Amino acid sequence: MRLLVVEDEEDLVDALRVGLVRAGYAVDVAFDAPAAQEKLQVNGYDLVLLDLNLPGGDGFQLCRAARAAGNDVRIIMVTARDRLDDRVRGLDEGADDYLVKPFAFPELLARVRALLRRDTGGTSVLEVGLLRIDTARMEVSLGGRALALTPKEYGVLHYLMTRPGHVVSSEELLEHVWDEHADPFTNTVRVTVGNLRRKLQADGLIETVISRGYRLKEPT
Ligand code: CA
Repeated sequence: MRLLVVEDEEDLVDALRVGLVRAGYAVDVAFDAPAAQEKLQVNGYDLVLLDLNLPGGDGFQLCRAARAAGNDVRIIMVTARDRLDDRVRGLDEGADDYLVKPFAFPELLARVRALLRRDTGGTSVLEVGLLRIDTARMEVSLGGRALALTPKEYGVLHYLMTRPGHVVSSEELLEHVWDEHADPFTNTVRVTVGNLRRKLQADGLIETVISRGYRLKEPT
């Protein structure tokens, strides 16, 4: 899953980036409102952490503009403004959640997971056939055998498991599992899928659909 962190406090950005990458997310950063607006238009994010007081604009405007443009990305407003009317306004402008600074990182992570779970029917455990992912613990197993995956292998498998039986293109995987620094012309997706297949030791579980992408086999 790919997140956009919109925040102008560099220390906070550094801490968030380290923690979120460790938790398996791809992270892009925008330090001001115009950069955030551009990235939201160009990239498909799964969730946005949105500060309210930003150089060049504010989070309320960004949120409203994104919703007006039909962007239904999950948005958590993260701000030092703790007045009731700010929280109410944030939610009314289209934010999905609101977190007041200073916050504890585990709570932020739990809120991120809670919002992303909505894509998978509210559960933090995904099962497709013998494959099982516990997204709260980042644990993966196949037929009860625990698998040690890198964050990118985990990200690819998680993404495929939310869409079993559907063809997912390399571009889509690159968009949702890698950050903006990934070179779109590398074979990084192919290499990661190859490594993932080797660890799964289950031939044909992840099918290659020639010139279209990859498909996680649905259980029969
Ligand atoms: Ca700020």
